[in-house]
Amino acid sequence: MIDENALRILTDAGMTDRIIAVEETGSTNDIAKQLMAGGFTGTALIIAECQTAGRGRLGRSWASPAGTGIWMSYLDTELVSTPSEHFNPACITLLAGLSVAETVNEYTSSVMTGRKAEDTLFHAGIKWPNDVVVNGKKLCGILTELVTEADKNSLIVGIGINTGQNSFPPELSDKATSYYLETGIFPEREIIIRRVIEKLRDYCISYKIAGSLSFVSDRYNRLMISKDKEVVLTAANGEFADNPYFARGITETGDLIVENRYGKMQSIRSGEVSVRGMLGYV
Ligand code: ADP
Repeated sequence: MIDENALRILTDAGMTDRIIAVEETGSTNDIAKQLMAGGFTGTALIIAECQTAGRGRLGRSWASPAGTGIWMSYLDTELVSTPSEHFNPACITLLAGLSVAETVNEYTSSVMTGRKAEDTLFHAGIKWPNDVVVNGKKLCGILTELVTEADKNSLIVGIGINTGQNSFPPELSDKATSYYLETGIFPEREIIIRRVIEKLRDYCISYKIAGSLSFVSDRYNRLMISKDKEVVLTAANGEFADNPYFARGITETGDLIVENRYGKMQSIRSGEVSVRGMLGYV
């Protein structure tokens, strides 16, 4: 079970008003919605040891077995309390992915100190828009929801990080991985949670002030796994005619810039198009 006391620093530092840790739930995003429905205002971090109905985008399911991951949601009822022209929840998804990728990379450098160089090749990257990937497989998925309740907009960021699985069911084994499978280490989940929330909070506030993602686009692009690689774009009505494209980075509104073989650039909005590498998932 997650040690709630080890997370108190988050409440002490004003990063979250409440922490709720439960053994089992359908989905931590749903607990966040129940809190909102009960009139809660402020920020809350909800963590479950196991989710029985974890969700990805477009109603897809997210496997969240007991004790093997960080299944959590961060609720903020204040960040977007008034409708803001600049505020785009898709940007928060990108900031959450960046927070997780940076956290696990920094954590790995700190725990690997003193180990052989070849053991430190772990590197988490970001598959635009919402996955954190290691060695071509998904380590983390993110689901951001903007929920309106009594004319008030609240943000819920659901984050699932595979920390301790030693195997995956057959339907996931070619595209999912865990921190343990990649490093042989069971990470201290409380440390990862703390650092992800600290980063996410800082990034969200900076985004709100700046009204754009320009302040992180270099960092994001450096971690984007498909940057300057060929990608295949698929929309609801089929593959793009000019496939493959080169991914060139994100715009200040979080769209993906792609370039076709004739040098023509265009930007792709998340949710409308799926991006795959030339050889499968990444
Ligand atoms: P994508 O962005 O890849 O389309 P989502 O972000 O919507 O996918 O996440 C849901 C998908 O992730 C599922 O359809 C499944 O393929 C995969 N998946 C489910 N659980 C896990 C997990 N614990 N780790 C990695 N991948 C998972």
